[in-house]
Amino acid sequence: MADSKDYYGLLGVSKDATDEELKKAYRQMAKKYHPDAQQGEAAKKEAEVKFKEINEAYSVLSDKTKRAQYDRFGSNFEQAGFGGGAGGYGGFGGFDFSGFGNGMGVDIDLDDILGSVFGGGFGGFGGKAKKTGPSKGADLRYNMNITFEEAAFGTKKEINVSKNEICDVCHGNGAKPGSNVVTCDMCHGSGKVQTTQNTIMGTFATVKTCEKCGGEGKVITEPCEKCNKRGTIRKTKKIEVNIPGGIDNGQAISIHGEGDCGKKGGPAGDLFVVVNVEPHKIFTRRGFDILETISVPFAKLTLGGIIKVPTLEEEVEYTIPEGTQTGTKFKLREKGIQNIHGRGRGNLEFTVIVDIPKKLTDEQREILTQFASSFGDEVNSKKKGFFGR
Ligand SMILES: [Zn+2]
Ligand SMILES: [Zn+2]
Repeated sequence: MADSKDYYGLLGVSKDATDEELKKAYRQMAKKYHPDAQQGEAAKKEAEVKFKEINEAYSVLSDKTKRAQYDRFGSNFEQAGFGGGAGGYGGFGGFDFSGFGNGMGVDIDLDDILGSVFGGGFGGFGGKAKKTGPSKGADLRYNMNITFEEAAFGTKKEINVSKNEICDVCHGNGAKPGSNVVTCDMCHGSGKVQTTQNTIMGTFATVKTCEKCGGEGKVITEPCEKCNKRGTIRKTKKIEVNIPGGIDNGQAISIHGEGDCGKKGGPAGDLFVVVNVEPHKIFTRRGFDILETISVPFAKLTLGGIIKVPTLEEEVEYTIPEGTQTGTKFKLREKGIQNIHGRGRGNLEFTVIVDIPKKLTDEQREILTQFASSFGDEVNSKKKGFFGR
């Protein structure tokens, strides 16, 4: 059995060092003994041995369970049957860093690598280099209130939309007309800058977006006075919107190309006009049908007669038959809402409900009492009765 190694000594910390102190010490030692940081072959070899020991020490001490075992049994605890890889550096070999040089515009520094490896999560290296080609402009949303009738029959509305448009002075390139746009001397026009970093994990080439030109590859010497390099200006545009009959609450009309302008010749976004249909005082909607409820006096329901039915256009007369029960539904064909697909109109459906009078004259009361008694019904005939309340 080999002699127990002094992990605390290797990292230069005391036996009661906190996790934070361990990590700090490890980073310092790892940087100091990183083989790539040494001059000459012999020094590299020597550092490599030490580097592995440091990694081994940290991999044990940074793990609560392993650290407890180590404190009790020393570095040979594995041979006593406690498993777990004290292999240190070897444990990191599974990560393939080779992909990071392939145009992923991410800065990687030592802290990131340590943080990722020891923090468990290894998803932090995502992200793409800034896109610099043509791109579509943003889609815009406009909320429009319309009345129930406007939704039913359709309407035309003019709206003012604030959006980005290509600057009419520089035509979108952001430079003062006549001034020079020169190739960026930092990235030589590629828009990307490659840097090489030595870290404890090896040497990485990282590619990031050029800071000087913002990935454009070109530098504007004199900015456009109107848009100050942006190439776009904010404008309010009047747009006529055709609202088709039959549109319903929450539906949208898309107007192609009326969103923000695109970048670098990319197409403009679209404008979406979303309608909010105001509720109607009388009507409600069910698909392309409209519904309403009409109160009809008791006698008219009983004897039948003409009632007035409000429609979207005008009031129409409708004859209800004798003995109509409260809750009966009637239909007026083609008096509903324009079918948005262009095939005629929906229907108007009205429900009649009985309208019970709340007050009666003495004469009316007398008549109604006689009416009831003709059926053999007992009713309150005195004034303070049901109707007198
Ligand atoms: Zn401009
Ligand atoms: Zn550049």
